Amino acid sequence: MLALLGGEPAITFKFNPYVTIGNEEELACLRVLRSGSLSAFYGSDCKEFYGGREVLALESEWADYFQVEHAISVNSNTSGLICALGAIGLEPGDEVIVSPWTMCASATSILVWNALPVFADIEPETFNLDPISIENKITKKTKAIVVPDIFGHSANLLEIMAIAKKYNLFVIEDAAQAPGALYMGRAVGTVGDIGVYSLNYHKHIHSGEGGVCVTNHPDLAEKIRLIRNHAEAVVSERKLKNITNMVGFNFRLTELQAAIAREQLRKLSRLLKKKQDEAQYLISGLNGLPGLRLPVIKKDCTHAFYLFPMILGGSYVKKREFLVKALRAEGLPFISEGYANIHLLEIFQRKIAYGSNGFPWNVYDIDHHIDYQRGTCPVAEDLHANSFFSMEHCLFDYDQRALDGIVSVFKKVWQYFDEG
Ligand SMILES: *Cc1c(COP(=O)(O)O)cnc(C)c1O
Repeated sequence: MLALLGGEPAITFKFNPYVTIGNEEELACLRVLRSGSLSAFYGSDCKEFYGGREVLALESEWADYFQVEHAISVNSNTSGLICALGAIGLEPGDEVIVSPWTMCASATSILVWNALPVFADIEPETFNLDPISIENKITKKTKAIVVPDIFGHSANLLEIMAIAKKYNLFVIEDAAQAPGALYMGRAVGTVGDIGVYSLNYHKHIHSGEGGVCVTNHPDLAEKIRLIRNHAEAVVSERKLKNITNMVGFNFRLTELQAAIAREQLRKLSRLLKKKQDEAQYLISGLNGLPGLRLPVIKKDCTHAFYLFPMILGGSYVKKREFLVKALRAEGLPFISEGYANIHLLEIFQRKIAYGSNGFPWNVYDIDHHIDYQRGTCPVAEDLHANSFFSMEHCLFDYDQRALDGIVSVFKKVWQYFDEG
C-alpha cells in the first residue's frame, strides 16, 4: 500500500547530502589565511585593481577550463549578470528579452540598469527560451537576450545567436545551472557574448557565494572588471572617454573564496560526470513508465543535470498532485511540482521596482506595451500549472542504494495507478 494511504514508506534511509568541500579546500584556505591577504583588491587605478593572487589564478584557470579568452570573477552570479548587462551599454528604457523559467535574478538584473525585462515563452523539450517566441517579442527597443541554460541543458543557441545577429542584439547566457555542459562541442556559457556562472552553495561547485563572467570580447571583459570594482573612481585617472554605465559596485570575490573556487574547478569534471551517470541510471530505470516523459538530451548536447526535469502526459496529467505527494510520502522529499514563472511575481504584476510609483515602467514604458499578464507565456504557464515536475539533482550524493531506491519508489507509485 502507498505510504500516502497509510502503508509503509519504501525508503527509510536518509540520502547523503551533496558535499564538494574537502581536504583540498581546507589546505587552500590555510594557505590564504597564513598569507594574511584575504582580499587584495584596490578600488583605484593600480595593479591591484584586478585583485590578488588567488583571484587572478582562478580567472586564468577558469578561462583555460572553459576555453574562453576572459574570465572575470564576481561575488555572485547575480552580480555577474549586473556587470554583463551594464557592460553591453544598456540604456534606461531598453528592452531585454528573458525567460520566465529561471531564477529571478536573470530578470531583476535588467532592472538594475533601469531597462525593462520582456518575457518570451519556453519550449517544452528543454524548458529553455523558444527562438520563435523570442523573435515575436523583439521591438526597436530590444537590446539583448538573457538566455538561461536551465536545469543544465543549453538553450537552442544556434538559432538564438542567429536571431541576435539578425537584429543586432547581445546574448548573455545565464549558465548558473550548466557549468561544464556542452553545446556542439563548446562549453555552455561561452557561446553567447557573455556567460555567467554561479559559485553559490547550491550549485554543482561552489565557494559559498561567488560567480564568474566569461567572454571573448576584450572590451566587454574590461567593462565587467570596471563595474565589479567602483568604476567611477578610476574613470579620470584612466582618461576613459566612454563612461556609459560606469557606476561601479563592489562585486569582488575574496582571496579565500577564490582559493576554494580553484579547488572546486579542479573537481568539476569528476563531479559533473557523477551527476550525469546518476541521471543516466535513473533515466534507464524509469524508462517505460506510462505517461512519464524523462529528461531530453538533444543531439550535440550534454546535460549538467542541476535538476532532473520530467513531464506527465495523457491521463497522468490530472494525477500530478497526488503523484507528487505519493512519491514524497515514500521517502523522496526532493520532488517538486511545477516551476516558478517569474513574470507572475508581484514585482512584474504590479510593476513596482524602485519606489512605489512604478519606476522604471512609468517613465520608460509609457505606451504600456510590456505585458506581464497571465497568458503571455502560455507554454511555461501550462507546464507549471499542469504537467511539469522535477527532482532536485544537486542536493544529494546518490549511492547505489539511493538510485535503486528512487527507481523502486517510482515503480511502486506507478503500479498503484496501473491497478487503480
Ligand atoms: C542560482 C542561480 C542564479 C543566482 O546565482 P547566485 O550566485 O546565487 O547569485 C541565477 N540564475 C540561475 C539560473 C540560477 O540557477
